[in-house]
Amino acid sequence: MATRDVEDIFGDIVAEAKAIDPAHVRTWFDKLTVVHLDGGLVGVGCPDEATAHFLRDNCKESFTRAAQRVTGYLVTVEFSVDHRDEGLRRSVSLGFELKLHPDYTFENFVVGPSNRLAHASCVAVSHSLGSTYNPLFLYGNSGLGKTHLLHAVCCEAKQRSTEAVIQFLSCEEFVNRFIRAIQQGNVAAFQRQFRSVDGLVIDDIQFLREREQSQEEFFHTFNAVYNNGKQIILSADSPPGKLPSFEERLVSRFSWGLVAGIDPPSYETRVAIVRKKAELRGLDITDEIAQYVARKVHANIRELEGALTTLYAVAMTTGEAVSLELAERALDGQIQFATRHISITDIIDVVTRHFDVRLADLQSKRRSQSIALPRQICMYLARNLTKHSLEEIGGHLGGRDHTTVMHACNKIGEADRSDAETHALLDELTKQITQSPQA
Ligand code: ADP
Ligand code: MG
Repeated sequence: MATRDVEDIFGDIVAEAKAIDPAHVRTWFDKLTVVHLDGGLVGVGCPDEATAHFLRDNCKESFTRAAQRVTGYLVTVEFSVDHRDEGLRRSVSLGFELKLHPDYTFENFVVGPSNRLAHASCVAVSHSLGSTYNPLFLYGNSGLGKTHLLHAVCCEAKQRSTEAVIQFLSCEEFVNRFIRAIQQGNVAAFQRQFRSVDGLVIDDIQFLREREQSQEEFFHTFNAVYNNGKQIILSADSPPGKLPSFEERLVSRFSWGLVAGIDPPSYETRVAIVRKKAELRGLDITDEIAQYVARKVHANIRELEGALTTLYAVAMTTGEAVSLELAERALDGQIQFATRHISITDIIDVVTRHFDVRLADLQSKRRSQSIALPRQICMYLARNLTKHSLEEIGGHLGGRDHTTVMHACNKIGEADRSDAETHALLDELTKQITQSPQA
């Protein structure tokens, strides 16, 4: 590798990684540095912890493949914060465990009539934890920005006060940690970790339904945090009163502070969101194209993003500039894709049939290869074919946590690349899933 300049090689790797996985390209990729390129290891320097997390979770595969193609060696890739150039770092070192998505900031959130109250209350809460609206309860359908706002609150609160202790959990994580604590006879320690927080943020609280014991525990946690005068922020897919199978005493507590709903965005807001998302990806689009995308896709903002990603991918592969005509061609494919919605259940159906196992086996704790392999394949396919988060995928497969899902995705992804038989099997399963009759 010595003959070429390290920076040059690294530039090629980033360009190749962008081409392999356009969905995760961000403009700050240009700020990535090479901290190491030797001995089979490519060390990628990131501006901060949030971007490093984002790359580890989403781009490990594309960067590895890119690095292998560019160098011709079986190298591995590691992402870490580049501390060499302090000026590079976007913000104060947040030095905390919280895993926040670098896209999900207030700056990147487009405010419109549909989300104004939710946005304003989140900003207020992030400025003074525990002393404005407590609890703050956000609700709205999937894909309307609840998780985005929760991340933004944490990010802002942390920037304002680096000492603030915030626990941010998906509901599944809360349940899983609780269950683990019971198994390990460690409930007191579980409870203690919430007693000292300044903020407790739990996303998608609706998953607590039918979890009586976890609801009970959550009730005590809620009281402890609340009585300490500390902030609680929750999100759900419906308002407190409409959450099915929730104990009345919880429902009433959810309404003590502020309940803010998010509605589907208007056309104008959608146009602004398309522009914002394009900007994040460094994609130059005209007003005409932004309006076209916003008109075509309206159900859910995640689909708007999917449309843009398609557009980006088509532009990259054809080498064409993004024109209205290209957008029309790209989105015609996209619309078919969007209506052909693939659910985790579709995937589980095909995989269980192929391996002749039951869903209950996949959700069980059994680790024998005959169960573990189909389970991991489900995780891998769900990651590739749906937009569910690692947490959500783990939730469907017996409440496994996101690191387990990530491990499965890496493992099966590796086998997909290196083993022809696995590749053929995954191809076949994907075909069956995408072609199975849709509701
Ligand atoms: P939810 O948690 O409500 O299902 P998310 O927060 O995951 O939704 O949002 C889905 C996607 O839509 C994310 O990429 C998010 O950044 C984006 N999004 C939602 N609302 C907005 C908004 N007002 N401005 C910018 N992006 C948004
Ligand atoms: Mg969410």
